[in-house]
Amino acid sequence: SQTIYLQRTRNSSCFYQEAQSFLPGGVTANIKYFEPYPIVMKHANGAYVFDIDQNKYIDYNLCYGALLVGHGHPQVYRAIEEQLQKLGTTILGTPHLLEVEMAKSLVDLYPSIESVRYTNSGLEATMLAIRLAMAWTGRQKIAKFEGHYHGGYDQVLVSVHPTLRDQSQLPPVQLDSCGIPSYYQENTVVLPFNQIEQTAELLKKYGHELAAVILEPVQGGYIPPDASFLKELRELTRQYGIVLIFDEVKTGFRLGLSGAQGRYGVTPDLTALGKVLGGGFPVGAVGGRKEIMQVCSPIDRRDILGVSDGHKTKNAIDILFHSGTYNGHPLVLAAGLATIRILEKTGVYQELEKRTHQLKVGMQEILHRYGIVGKAVGDGSIFNLVFSEHPVLQIQDVLRSDLATRKELDFSLLNQGVYVKPQNRFSLSIAHTSQIISETLNRFEQAVKSIVS
Ligand code: PMP
Repeated sequence: SQTIYLQRTRNSSCFYQEAQSFLPGGVTANIKYFEPYPIVMKHANGAYVFDIDQNKYIDYNLCYGALLVGHGHPQVYRAIEEQLQKLGTTILGTPHLLEVEMAKSLVDLYPSIESVRYTNSGLEATMLAIRLAMAWTGRQKIAKFEGHYHGGYDQVLVSVHPTLRDQSQLPPVQLDSCGIPSYYQENTVVLPFNQIEQTAELLKKYGHELAAVILEPVQGGYIPPDASFLKELRELTRQYGIVLIFDEVKTGFRLGLSGAQGRYGVTPDLTALGKVLGGGFPVGAVGGRKEIMQVCSPIDRRDILGVSDGHKTKNAIDILFHSGTYNGHPLVLAAGLATIRILEKTGVYQELEKRTHQLKVGMQEILHRYGIVGKAVGDGSIFNLVFSEHPVLQIQDVLRSDLATRKELDFSLLNQGVYVKPQNRFSLSIAHTSQIISETLNRFEQAVKSIVS
């Protein structure tokens, strides 16, 4: 597979050589890299991406799930063009109409959201949510789950890529990057996903010190929570006065218009959103209980500045600082609102999930036919292929699976014109028609055949 890959992607290889002279590791984000070198894409359309060697791929990465309506959806394009025309500029830097329009949609759709702040990435959204929780509770530690990713900053780059451990042991607290002070290791409790007993034990021990428990309600977007896990976690966090944060950067709008909280019927205190919300532009948002969100209201600052207007006086230190030149960018919100309007149409999610099901079942049937033990794990329109006969309930189950076969298959798929980032999830869009799914399954069978022969 690797030899064919090298032959098919010669231009990518040359370009990557040059890129390395100008960009560390030849990439602008570590996630974009894979061995021996990543494919350089040129353009895209609907469910397809095209590389600089003239290869055409059915895209199952979709910018890590952000493009739920596919590449270049005409309604999204139109909304951006119209917004540019209306604005007469690219950004206003003042309050504007779409900020409230989008907030109203989020308040309507997400059970936990009463009030909203925008950010420019999912990373900033989870960071703001954690800061709000700390300000609200006056506590300085957080708990996160092993294997859960919340963005690339110090506080949450803890045990995202853990090592294999015996499951009777508790998850170790490991820093995922150099350059991070050990402070974060010392002030983070790492919990095991989908294991309520061990989680309850750890919360019993540390609960009174914790400002927040943050988690991806569906780990990595593909490992669903055990039936009662989220409900019990909700109860425990309430009991200890901990702010429960759902990081729905991946699951928001993916698992339905109300995200994972709508799907599983559990309401957190704060929710972080991103990806789909921006219609393909950089975005993030935090929403949640009004009284917690209110901590970042600047209104009382007027008292401090001596412009008293009858609001109660707060010290500057009582106001949570949140700002950003580009927050609530009018083009981003226009693209996001256009995306939501497409998704709101009746039957969109049903159809998307029907096709995802068709793909998952088809892939499993092919694997079975060729004697490979593996399954498609996921809920909604994202899944991952895990080569294991055991249930997949948390990151450790993936680490224990046959990752070498997965890697081999990934390259065979790339060679067949199916784009998946090696070892990463498969995300679908509404542009993936049932014909495209059938075509994918034909290519999948060819890819499987080539690795067993
Ligand atoms: N949280 C989750 C669950 C994510 O999947 C991601 C991105 N993959 C982030 C946070 C960070 O978002 P961004 O890349 O926009 O900073």
